[in-house]
Amino acid sequence: MSSSTAAQVIRCKAAVAWEAGKPLVIEEVEVAAPQAMEVRLKILFTSLCHTDVYFWEAKGQTPLFPRIFGHEAGGIVESIGEGVTDLKPGDHVLPVFTGECKECRHCKSEESNMCDLLRINTDRGVMLNDGKSRFSINGQPIYHFVGTSTFSEYTVVHVGCVAKINLAAPLDKVCVLSCGISTGLGATLNVAKPKKGSTVAIFGLGAVGLAAAEGARIAGASRIIGVDLNAKRFDEAKKFGVTEFVNPKDHDKPVQEVIAEMTDGGVDRSVECTGSINAMISAFECVHDGWGVAVLVGVPNKDDAFKTHPMNILNEKTLKGTFFGNYKPRSDLPSVVERYMNKELELEKFITHEVPFSEINKAFEYMLRGDGLRCIIRMDA
Ligand code: NAD
Ligand code: ZN
Repeated sequence: MSSSTAAQVIRCKAAVAWEAGKPLVIEEVEVAAPQAMEVRLKILFTSLCHTDVYFWEAKGQTPLFPRIFGHEAGGIVESIGEGVTDLKPGDHVLPVFTGECKECRHCKSEESNMCDLLRINTDRGVMLNDGKSRFSINGQPIYHFVGTSTFSEYTVVHVGCVAKINLAAPLDKVCVLSCGISTGLGATLNVAKPKKGSTVAIFGLGAVGLAAAEGARIAGASRIIGVDLNAKRFDEAKKFGVTEFVNPKDHDKPVQEVIAEMTDGGVDRSVECTGSINAMISAFECVHDGWGVAVLVGVPNKDDAFKTHPMNILNEKTLKGTFFGNYKPRSDLPSVVERYMNKELELEKFITHEVPFSEINKAFEYMLRGDGLRCIIRMDA
């Protein structure tokens, strides 16, 4: 007898987005038992990342409602489906919006985290196993979001999208590693790879950008130039080792020209963490010719197009992009948690607000007005 046969439907609270841009409504939902290669998690803490806000505002690819958003979280395995061997009830985990099946060409490649089976899919609102949702209200299905849907006391996730972490790690802190902070950190350490002593520009000083700045500091960058339209972000950024600031609004020429003047022709590396197409183009054009590398992290609006003169590419500037900082969720995330446990990485400074689940809409308000970095939502309160 396996514990999968014991799992029943659970009724619990979830924050449902019924319509684009309208406040979430706390509803009682039914969460079905996990099917083959799925696990059901009890979410203890979740936080809000800008990607949730983009899709809630329906700026992303395909609007899909009603939906349960949320993808940055920490929780405990409640039950497991058939075929799940490397997780058991009680394990502490971080769900991740992109997965690792461990069998495809990507999972077997050292260079990629773009799993064929489980890579991020923002259009699919259902589970892979049967093409159906595990959430419902009086029989009406409620769609999933990026395979995680953590704005619910219980959620069902594919086992390949779950990282098992150290039981001693405080979930109210390490939950932010489930998306934003690992994304920014990895974008710098794994993709931009600045050399010691180099100059790095970070576009967007939200949690993702400041985690990218942390990566630059850890890599030994000598100058970290922070670029943001919101001057309030500059004070906070000093705590993350950002040494200089540029607000594009303070200049009447393109910010890439301002940066080129500050750095004798351009920065060695840049990391874009805004989601703004203009910032993406500036981040590429501000790197030095011959060796500069720009990394795009922000999620663009659905009709955006990247436009630059091809001479920039001929002049040996490199453009890259990354999901989840090129970390493989199951193989690599536990070691990012260990960086926090070893005090190499401080997470407390990213956490600026906390609200009970019943006030989840406040977390959206904070993010929409650019107030603070991460707001932790406590599911038990
Ligand atoms: P955030 O809203 O907290 O921060 C974004 C910052 O960018 C804000 O401070 C804003 O003022 C600034 N900004 C906006 N337009 C700008 C411009 N033109 N020039 C300079 N600064 C500008 O968001 P966040 O949670 O830090 O996320 C940042 C981005 O990363 C979002 O687009 C999010 O969707 C994306 N993201 C991507 C991945 C991935 O795997 N690729 C993962 C997580 C988040
Ligand atoms: Zn795979």
